[in-house]
Amino acid sequence: MESLEAACDNLTPSPLTVLASLKVNIAPAVIATTMSTSTVSYDLFHSYPGSPSSGASNTLANEPFDDEGADIIIRTADGTDFMVYKFILARASPFFKKMFSIPQPPGADEIPHLIPVAEDEKTIDTILRICYPDSNPPFDDTQAELVMEAGRKYDIGVVEAYFKAGVISLASSQPVKAYGLAYRGNLKEEAQAAAAFSLRFSLQELLVKEGSQFQHLPGMAIRGLVHYHIQCRDAAYKVVDDWSWITQDRRRDEDHGVPNRWWFQDDHSNLACRSSVLLPAVGRWVHVWLKKFTDDLKLSIAMPGTPLGQLDTCVAIMTAFLAGTASQCQVCREAAGAGVPQAHAALLNAIHNAQSKVKLDLTQMPL
Ligand SMILES: [Zn+2]
Repeated sequence: MESLEAACDNLTPSPLTVLASLKVNIAPAVIATTMSTSTVSYDLFHSYPGSPSSGASNTLANEPFDDEGADIIIRTADGTDFMVYKFILARASPFFKKMFSIPQPPGADEIPHLIPVAEDEKTIDTILRICYPDSNPPFDDTQAELVMEAGRKYDIGVVEAYFKAGVISLASSQPVKAYGLAYRGNLKEEAQAAAAFSLRFSLQELLVKEGSQFQHLPGMAIRGLVHYHIQCRDAAYKVVDDWSWITQDRRRDEDHGVPNRWWFQDDHSNLACRSSVLLPAVGRWVHVWLKKFTDDLKLSIAMPGTPLGQLDTCVAIMTAFLAGTASQCQVCREAAGAGVPQAHAALLNAIHNAQSKVKLDLTQMPL
């Protein structure tokens, strides 16, 4: 990293050269007496102790924040200077828009205004890249909370949107970490979404897979997640147990021309598949293989498995069909190609519907 003075040697004539000649590396209180009052108007030093840049040599930020044509300098706590265009910041942030609207003395715009900030180089680099029209930087979950905090401090809406999208993206692979980011950031929708993603894993799997993340969660946040899993498991079990899914969406499927519920004895029965079981809850006879599949599914849901059981794909239900005597029936074989995935989709949809009504308890979420 080169020093500000060294950087300035290569930028002649440049605004930095002007600043260097005015000795802007000194403390803000001194700046107030030696520079125009415009610099003091933008001074954010009061928000943190000391004057980090005092006596230190500053370095110039990486591209595109080394642009000598820019009209403000943001100086980070660890001494990096970002050359930034005012209008980009003002467009992204009502905070900066208001700051820049403060009337300045004549001639003050001839040099870039210096804005010292409390954040470090990495945080400022990230939020500025989000504000700039180029593509956003990759979501870094180790830095995300500092970025979010700075985004809120400076009232930059696009940073909040970036954080929310990053949390959702992270949730598919690391739901507990994503849940923690959302919980600590007071983002209810994202916390609920991360919890829903966590249902792909059992609680036991989460404790192993993301064990270290639990130490960063408040006790009530852990309780909320565990209770949510239990309620979702119970909701899934109830759907499978009461067979309500088997008659749902039937009209919609028929409208789409999908072969429908051929596994009902009264819809179709052949020598090979006529062995059926009565479902008192719906008053229908269903082929044995489907009853056996749902019995096994209930067991897997009730045991320390995932709240969805083995339903990620329709492999399990197709295997159950092929293992049953119905697979020897010509009519069943012809119907199964479309009908088994239809059964899987109907069951999964009914479970998702039931689980979507389970609300995560976020009443203790910090404001
Ligand atoms: Zn049959």
